[in-house]
Amino acid sequence: MKILMYSVRPDEEAAIKAWAERHEVTVDMNQEVMSLATVDLAQGYDGVVIVQHGVIDSDQVYAKLHQFGIKQLGLRSAGYDVVDLKAAAANDLIVTNVPAYSPRSVAEYSLAQLMRLIRNLEIADERAQQQDFRWGGLVGREIHDLTIGIIGAGRIGSTAAKLYKALGATVLANDPVPRADLKDIVTYVDKATILKESDVIDLHPDLNPSSTHLLAAADFKLMKNSAYLINASRGPVVDTPALITALKQHEIAGAAIDAVEGEEVINNFDLRDQTIESPEIKALIALPNAIYTPHIAFYTTVSVQNMVDISLDDAFHIITTGKADHPVQA
Ligand code: NAD
Repeated sequence: MKILMYSVRPDEEAAIKAWAERHEVTVDMNQEVMSLATVDLAQGYDGVVIVQHGVIDSDQVYAKLHQFGIKQLGLRSAGYDVVDLKAAAANDLIVTNVPAYSPRSVAEYSLAQLMRLIRNLEIADERAQQQDFRWGGLVGREIHDLTIGIIGAGRIGSTAAKLYKALGATVLANDPVPRADLKDIVTYVDKATILKESDVIDLHPDLNPSSTHLLAAADFKLMKNSAYLINASRGPVVDTPALITALKQHEIAGAAIDAVEGEEVINNFDLRDQTIESPEIKALIALPNAIYTPHIAFYTTVSVQNMVDISLDDAFHIITTGKADHPVQA
């Protein structure tokens, strides 16, 4: 059996080689994005696994994979909007994704940023670099003294809730679907209550019409002036111009943002000598009370290993049995 992995990053190579050895399967790698220009590389392989930001550029890609005798198209990401599911199905390709590679990775990111925010560590670091060692404005909070509100308590949000609870915080949650495993961990409340009562709002909903611009101008006005926001979910969950206004006018104290609308054109690029075109992202990053990271909440060794293992396991099972654990329905 031979599988071809597209768009392989150096940090994935060890996990891929380990899987290949364990399963005695040849797994070859390239750095190409799957497209009409690169699909021919898959000829002679039994399966393909991809990961990419851009949509597959032509329906002929699916037709060619079918023509090569390939029966699946594996994604080693949760998102699958880069694939035309109808075109894949029309060519008898089973598309798979990795729905949850490590909820803990994102939950621990949120915890890390929460600690940075409540202890003013970003400001202390910047001051130290300027040889300004004064304490003024650096008084912090302790986590067991906080009410933390989680909006969207699914796989990641529930994991974060358990971490915060273990550290002694009072944890509120807002989610239309309550979880039995959070019975003794959180108190479920409505959206207005969570916004008014929380010292930190931690966002973890999936992106859907109800969560698009879930936090807009009126919502920031409900939050405490001393409250912090963490968004490691999806960019459109927050109305960015409204967030910028809320931070500038000190309606809230600060924010840690790992996902922002329009992030695709900046994340994982070296733009040191260039101008950021989006005025919103530029304004957000420049704010002294905002911390920005380029969608790295998931990016841990455990996540990378799981993305590789789960996507290759699915490819292996489809090739050998015609079935996989994580098919994406058209
Ligand atoms: P999930 O589907 O397990 O949980 C989402 C929860 O949000 C569900 O319980 C759902 O009922 C709830 N929800 C949906 N709409 C809501 C609304 N309007 N108000 C309140 N709750 C709402 O998803 P997950 O696997 O926990 O992922 C959560 C988010 O994290 C997703 O947006 C995902 O894309 C994002 N994510 C980010 C990274 C990163 O690196 N930053 C990595 C992985 C996932």
